[in-house]
Amino acid sequence: AKILVTGANGYIAIWVVRRLLEKGYSVRGTVRSEAKAEHLRQLFSEYGSKHEVVIVEDITAEGAFDDAVKGVDAIEHTASPFHLHADDPNEFIEPAVKGTVGVLQSTLKYGSNVKRIVITSSSAAVLEIPDSPRKFSELDWNRQAIKEVEEKGRDALVMNKYRASKTLAEKAAWKFVDDNKGKIGWDLVVLNPPYVFGPVIQHVPTPEQINTSMAEFYNTLLKGVKDESQLASLGNCWIDVRDLALAHVLAIEKEQAGGNRFIISQGTFKWQDFVDAAHKAGVYPDSALPKGVPGSGYASDVVHMIDYDTSKAARILGMDKYISKEECTKDCLEDFKSRGW
Ligand code: NDP
Repeated sequence: AKILVTGANGYIAIWVVRRLLEKGYSVRGTVRSEAKAEHLRQLFSEYGSKHEVVIVEDITAEGAFDDAVKGVDAIEHTASPFHLHADDPNEFIEPAVKGTVGVLQSTLKYGSNVKRIVITSSSAAVLEIPDSPRKFSELDWNRQAIKEVEEKGRDALVMNKYRASKTLAEKAAWKFVDDNKGKIGWDLVVLNPPYVFGPVIQHVPTPEQINTSMAEFYNTLLKGVKDESQLASLGNCWIDVRDLALAHVLAIEKEQAGGNRFIISQGTFKWQDFVDAAHKAGVYPDSALPKGVPGSGYASDVVHMIDYDTSKAARILGMDKYISKEECTKDCLEDFKSRGW
């Protein structure tokens, strides 16, 4: 079977491409320019004609994916802006929503072989900042970020512009499916991961070019950007990029997954946990790492404001064991070290 992966050069997508190829699928990836195709072609050269890269210059353009969807059996749509530097909320919202709806529209017209579309949404489309600790599930939707962007526009928190874009894009996808019942030969699966960490295999010549979630990981562990007294209080939930890539493969393989969104999360973390894991890994000398208060991220009085019920992904996708913080951290640090960072 042939799978289309949009934004194939991205941090998460490139792991999705790798796992699909390893499992024997053919993959067609989309990137924005010829220059961005080069690294992918090199990385996956051993797969010959089973791996191709096509250029979709502007995912917001009408019919942008018309050619890309032809002849594929399933689609993993990951392309969407994830950065934290734009004033205009539409710099997030337009590509997120138009890109998503565009993929679905092109599939309706030209994707006659397509059986399933998987969209990489985010926990950003699920969570709302709670007043007291709360466990969210797939039933929850983020209305908070959309409201803030509606009210404050450019003055909204940048994270909420991003969160609004992910929520609006996912909502638009479910609405498209609803509006086109009876006309479409595929079903939709949505994955909602929190922070994604793990080894970087996309093209990143310098640490400054690393993707947003791994930039925070790198900067916290190796640049000491966070106040050490805060390491045990700052955190969120996370998933290893390789587990998330596996979930993307399972999401196209599991028949019963159709029509569902799935939270894909290993669990909660405090940055102190990753700092402790970095010391334990022994890849960099202790002196190169922040210290904080070892073990304090796991203290019994530590509060996690946000957590997720992941039982649905376990039950339907079979996601029931996850890469640990220790393994993730060791692999990331070995990767950084091998790059001379
Ligand atoms: P990356 O920045 O590494 O990848 C983003 C991909 O989307 C790249 O291929 C990028 O292309 C493409 N893209 C971004 N903006 C546009 C645009 N305006 N037009 C066309 N293509 C665009 O990020 P991730 O791999 O982390 O993110 C992939 C997906 O996962 C996103 O949908 C993101 O929202 C989601 N996600 C990520 C999480 C994380 O912690 N990393 C957590 C939860 C969800 P180019 O390289 O050309 O810019």
